[in-house]
Amino acid sequence: MRDPVLFYVIVGGLALALTASWGWGRYRWYRARTAPFPEHWLTLMHKALPYYPYMSSELQQQLQDHIKRFLFEKRFVGCAGLEVTEEMKVTIAACASLLLLNRPTLNFGKVRWIYLYPAEFIVRHTVQDAAGVVSTEENVLSGESWHDGKVILSWDDVQKSVYDFNDGRNVVLHEFAHQLDAESGSMDGAPLLRSRGAYGSWATILSREFNSLRDHVYFGEESVLDTYGATHPAEFFAVATESFFEEPENLAEEHPELYNEMLAYYQVDPREWRPRVVPRRVKPVEEV
Ligand SMILES: [Zn+2]
Repeated sequence: MRDPVLFYVIVGGLALALTASWGWGRYRWYRARTAPFPEHWLTLMHKALPYYPYMSSELQQQLQDHIKRFLFEKRFVGCAGLEVTEEMKVTIAACASLLLLNRPTLNFGKVRWIYLYPAEFIVRHTVQDAAGVVSTEENVLSGESWHDGKVILSWDDVQKSVYDFNDGRNVVLHEFAHQLDAESGSMDGAPLLRSRGAYGSWATILSREFNSLRDHVYFGEESVLDTYGATHPAEFFAVATESFFEEPENLAEEHPELYNEMLAYYQVDPREWRPRVVPRRVKPVEEV
C-alpha cells in the first residue's frame, strides 16, 4: 500500500473492531453466566434428567453452569422442517452436560452446531470395497457425531432416550461421548485421560471388554452393553458411556473393571443418584 497513513488507519480499525467484538462476546457471556438459572429451564431439566433431584447441590450447580455455557455457545439448526424449541435445547444440553461433571473441560469446545431432525434420518456415505469399487451406502440413523464440530440428532430418539433413563440407550450421551473421544485427535475409543499412567489400564481393560462383547455377539449371548458397541472401539466407548449413566448397577455388577475405568474417567458415580427405582414415565403418544 502506497499511503502509510491509510495502511495504519485500516490496520488500527481492524484491530479495534476485533477487540470490540471480543469484548462484546466476553460481556455477553458474563451476563449469561451470572444470570440466575431460568425457572422454566429447571422444569425442563427435571423432565430430562430424573436423577437431578438426587444429585448433590454441588453437582446440580455444576450442571446448571454447563447447561448455560452449552446453550450460550452452541447453535441449533432444525432440519426437515423441524422448529427447534427451548425444550429441545435444554433437554440436549442437560444430557450432554452429564458427561462434563467434576472434570476440567472446555464444554465440548469443538462442537459448534447441533442439527436436529424430527425423527431418524438417512445418511449417504461413499464407500470403497477391497477391489476398489466405489459405491454409495445409505444408513438410517438416530444420531451422528462429526470430527468438525457437528452433532446430528433425531428429536424423536432424544425423547425416547429421556423417557426411559434406565434402559441403557441414550442417543445424546452416545454422540457426545464420541465428541469427548475426538478430543484426543481421533475417534478410537481412547479419550484424553487424567494422567499418563491411566492409559495402561484403560487400554488393557477396554480392549478386553471390547473383545468380550464381540464374543457375546458371536455366540448370541445377552449383555448389559448394546451389541452395537462390538462394531468398533469408538462405538464401544460410546455404548459403555450410555450404560454407565443409565444402568450403573448392572454395569458395575457384570463388568466391575470396566465400571471402575468409567468411574475414573467421568469422575462421578451415577449409582449415588439412584436412591430408589425411578418409575418409568407415561409413554408419549406414538405419532402415526
Ligand atoms: Zn456411535
